[in-house]
Parts: sequence; structure tokens; C-alpha cells
Amino acid sequence: MIISALRPVALLVLLLGLTACATPRPAPRAEVGAGPGPVILISIDGFRSDYLDRGLTPHLGGLADRGLRAPMRASFPTKTFPNHYTLVTGLTPARHGLVDNIMRDPDHPGRLFRLGDRSEVTDPLWWEEGLPIWVSAERAGLKTATLFWPGSEAAIHGVRPSHWRTFDQSMSAEARVDQLLAWLDVPAAEQPAFLALYFDEVDTDGHRYGPDAPELNAALARTDAAIGRLVAGLEARGLLSAANLIVVSDHGMAPTSRDRVIYLEDLVSVEDGQVLSTGPHLTFEPARGREAQAAAALLRDHAHMSCWRKAELPERFAYRHRRVASLFCLAETGWEILPRDVAARRPQVGGAHGFDPDDPTMTAIFVAAGPAFRVGIELPRIDNVDVYPLLSRLLALQPAPHQGDLTAFAPGLALD
Ligand code: AMP
Ligand code: ZN
Ligand code: ZN
Repeated sequence: MIISALRPVALLVLLLGLTACATPRPAPRAEVGAGPGPVILISIDGFRSDYLDRGLTPHLGGLADRGLRAPMRASFPTKTFPNHYTLVTGLTPARHGLVDNIMRDPDHPGRLFRLGDRSEVTDPLWWEEGLPIWVSAERAGLKTATLFWPGSEAAIHGVRPSHWRTFDQSMSAEARVDQLLAWLDVPAAEQPAFLALYFDEVDTDGHRYGPDAPELNAALARTDAAIGRLVAGLEARGLLSAANLIVVSDHGMAPTSRDRVIYLEDLVSVEDGQVLSTGPHLTFEPARGREAQAAAALLRDHAHMSCWRKAELPERFAYRHRRVASLFCLAETGWEILPRDVAARRPQVGGAHGFDPDDPTMTAIFVAAGPAFRVGIELPRIDNVDVYPLLSRLLALQPAPHQGDLTAFAPGLALD
């Protein structure tokens, strides 16, 4: 645990939590009452905070106008799975253990976590250092429903959401919304209190065409239309005034180019070890007996890239965990570390994330509207660990130990 990286309030919560419960435990419903409507958490993967100002997302802009918005700092590394799990646990990746989209675990030699490997993604072993909000909610007797939230396909601490589906990237945004609404079409007593929905088109097109491309703008408009469909569906069911909607993203997107590539083959040899992640960051695990060669190759001055042993990574990244690879290189924003064949297949321009979370291009969004929120408030930058204590408060759940700070939202909350 990196205590120095925590803010005082978060530290107090964490210490109280740690003394009270060193191991995950059932979360009783707290005394404070939640509103009667559902809490709906929506992620738009790769939605950079300034996309909201392009005039292309009227439905999302409408939610911000009748609620709260804030730029949101992503956790390190600014990748999809680590940040989605942070949002629902209030823990940084080094605390919840989902340290990267691709990772190994020295406690489980031979295993390799990758997004495309269903048996790994659904194996609780990768997820159990965190306690996602849906697990606490289900244990407290609430029903939950998640559509593609990373982690929700695994039985974490033995618990899955009451409703969930296997990830299917080909399912349209409209169909995702309709599935979410269908989960609400049950008698009030059966309704999920917490629902989570995931959209990936903005990230996919951000990678493929870059954050400034017309194709990306079209993806923004399509995803916004899906949010409009959700709002209309809630209204038709008489749920809109009671529901608290929170729209977030996991990270932003930086423009990349074939002219800004650091070639992997120029850095390190395959005999020296295993390459795990490439792109904005390179993670490398030296082979036994090749530690010195790998370190000599990577731990030197490079143009457009910095490399560290994991114990020497900057404190502000708060990134120490057994699953973090021994050697870690981070490219300057907009540059990528790639094998030559991969670089050759790339279009001239595109987009990527995984860069320094304090670079403005990595800033995510937070928009919330509903009875729990005041109208028309714009907050200064929040941290994505703060979302978890907010969700806990809205669901009247005792939060598990976390690193967030609920007071970050205080000026925008309409709760006592
Ligand atoms: P990345 O841009 O590499 O950080 O990851 C984004 C990608 O993660 C999206 O394009 C999705 O296809 C993929 N993804 C999201 N959720 C899941 C999931 N549950 N299982 C596998 N892949 C996923
Ligand atoms: Zn993402
Ligand atoms: Zn992405």
C-alpha cells in the first residue's frame, strides 16, 4: 500500500476500513436512505473530457446541464480494464490487482491475463483483491445488472450480478440500451437497484481514426443517440425523475502517427525476456539469467520514452504490485513502442491511451444527473477512485476500504 499517495480523507476512510475489516465482508445497508430509483452507471470507453464540448452530444450535454459534470483523472495505467475496475472498487490498479490489460502473476506461473482470453477474464483469481460495488450490493440484498462492465463476467468472491451477459462487441449500442431497459421491466420490488452499461465504439474509432477524425465524431453522435434512447426509455417507464444516472469514461485518447513510433526491435532482444504490453507502454519480464542484459537495454536514456525498474516508478503513478512487470517503459504522449510489423499495418494517423494520466489528453469524463445531484454544477477535476464512494452513498451501502473521497462531490450533491 502506498499511503503517501492517498489524500487525508481517503487515508482516514482506508485506515478505518482496514482496522474494521482486513478481509472483504458483507456490506450491510447503511442507515442513510437512498432514493427510490435505480442508480445507472454508464461507461463510454475512451471518451476524452473535451469531446463533451464538440456540440455533438446533446443528450449527454443535457444530462450535464440538469446535473453535474467534472473532468476526471484516470488511474495509472490509463487502460480499459484497470480503470473500469477502479471505478467500481475505489481502488487504484495497484490495490485492486487488475494492473494492466495484459499481465502475469508470479503467484500463478504460466498464467497470462489478456482481454481476448475468456477463460482468464472470467477467472475470479485476477479480480479478488477488489470488491466491486455489485458484489457489496448483492450481498446486501439488492439486485444488480451489468452489461459488459469489465469484471462482471467473473464470480468475484463467489458473487455475480443478478443479471449479466457475456461480452459481445458486436451488440449494437441500441440493443445494449434495450437490454438494460428490459432488466427494469419487472415489478418494482424485483428491479435492480444498480445497473451498469458499457459502450466501446468511441474507443474503437478513437484508436482507428484518431481523436480528431470525422469518424470519431460520428461515433460520439451514435453513442449519444443511445444515451438519448436510454433517457427516453426511462421516461416512458416513469423512472426518469427517480433514477440517478452517472456517465463516466475510463481514460481519454491521444493522437498517434506512424511517424511517432519507437521500434521494439531497436530496444531489446527476444532472448532477453517476454514482451507483455506494447503501445504507449512497454512491459518486459526478463528471462532468468538475462536480467542484466534486459536492464542494460532498457534502463538508459531514450528519445521519447522513459524506462524504470518497477520499484523505481514515479510515486505519483502509485504502481507497485507483484503483477507489474519488472521493467516498464512509458512513451511520451503521442508516441508508441511497437514491433515493426505491427507499426507497418497501422494507418498513418490513429489514437492511443495508456499515457501519463496527468496529460490532458488522458482526462476522462464524469457527468451525473438525478435527484441526488444539484443542477448545472461544474466541479474541478476529480479522481476516478472517488466514484466508488459516491455509488456506495447513492445505494446506501457501507463502502468497503477504498482510496476515494466522497467530499470531492460535495458541492454537487443534493443529499443531506
Ligand atoms: P483497450 O483500448 O485495449 O484498453 O481496451 C478496449 C477494448 O476492450 C474494447 O475495444 C473492447 O473490445 C474490449 N473489452 C471491453 N470489455 C471487454 C470484456 N469484458 N472482455 C473482453 N474484451 C473487452
Ligand atoms: Zn478504454
Ligand atoms: Zn482503447
